[in-house]
Amino acid sequence: MADHLASIYGTEKDKVNCSFYFKIGACRHGDRCSRKHVKPSFSQTVLLSNVYQNPAHEATCSMTETELQDHFDLFWEDIYVELAKYGEIEEMNVCDNVGDHLVGNVYVRYKYEEDAGNAVTALNERFYAGRPLYAELSPVTDFGEACCRQYEMAECTRGGFCNFMHLKLVSRSLEKELFAAQKETLAMKKKEKRDAERAARAASGGGGGGSDDDGGGRDSRERKSSSSRRHRSRTRSPDDRRRSDRSDSRRRDRDAGYSSSKVKYEEPW
Ligand SMILES: [Zn+2]
Ligand SMILES: [Zn+2]
Repeated sequence: MADHLASIYGTEKDKVNCSFYFKIGACRHGDRCSRKHVKPSFSQTVLLSNVYQNPAHEATCSMTETELQDHFDLFWEDIYVELAKYGEIEEMNVCDNVGDHLVGNVYVRYKYEEDAGNAVTALNERFYAGRPLYAELSPVTDFGEACCRQYEMAECTRGGFCNFMHLKLVSRSLEKELFAAQKETLAMKKKEKRDAERAARAASGGGGGGSDDDGGGRDSRERKSSSSRRHRSRTRSPDDRRRSDRSDSRRRDRDAGYSSSKVKYEEPW
């Protein structure tokens, strides 16, 4: 019996728990849903509700496809750079649905649950484009399950009101560039930390046992997230990301305060 309940948990057959909340992190009935929305206490994924305001959804929009993509790319970069401050990002997705519970939703999956928890606390104090942010830990780990398969084949008849995710895609080159810049920044920070520890040891007389470095802390974090990472359907294949000169200058901009996208959002953060 327990096995049976575990196997149907969060599926359409589960009469207690809401399958939409479990798979997509949002359900059109919200708090009035007749099934349970079991909010996770720990998760690698953070949901920021209703953040991206797509100009294409406005009746008076006269922007071209290229302008719309540029608008979205600026938003994506802006959000990514800010969210990367809380920890290593493995995946970030933005919904293009128009239903109230999904419109403009941003889902970010961190490598470590601890970073996701810290991001939620910090982001709930923040504003974006003049509006308060609302962040929560989300049960979504497998975006393959959350996304609308018909939409991916350009066959969804429900349009923007579909209850599965219709993702708005960022330009592939920008995505690669940002993930590469993140990887590089993390490597740099790790090296700085190691150097500082080595210098501190040398200053204190260089006592023995130098072999364990910073390994202890890192290992325990690796273990913590390993179980939830089992559910991943797609990974970002970090190895083939090459950095362009452009990303170097962008990173400098960011380190200095940050990037060009402020132009569109006068009151960004
Ligand atoms: Zn529900
Ligand atoms: Zn759909």
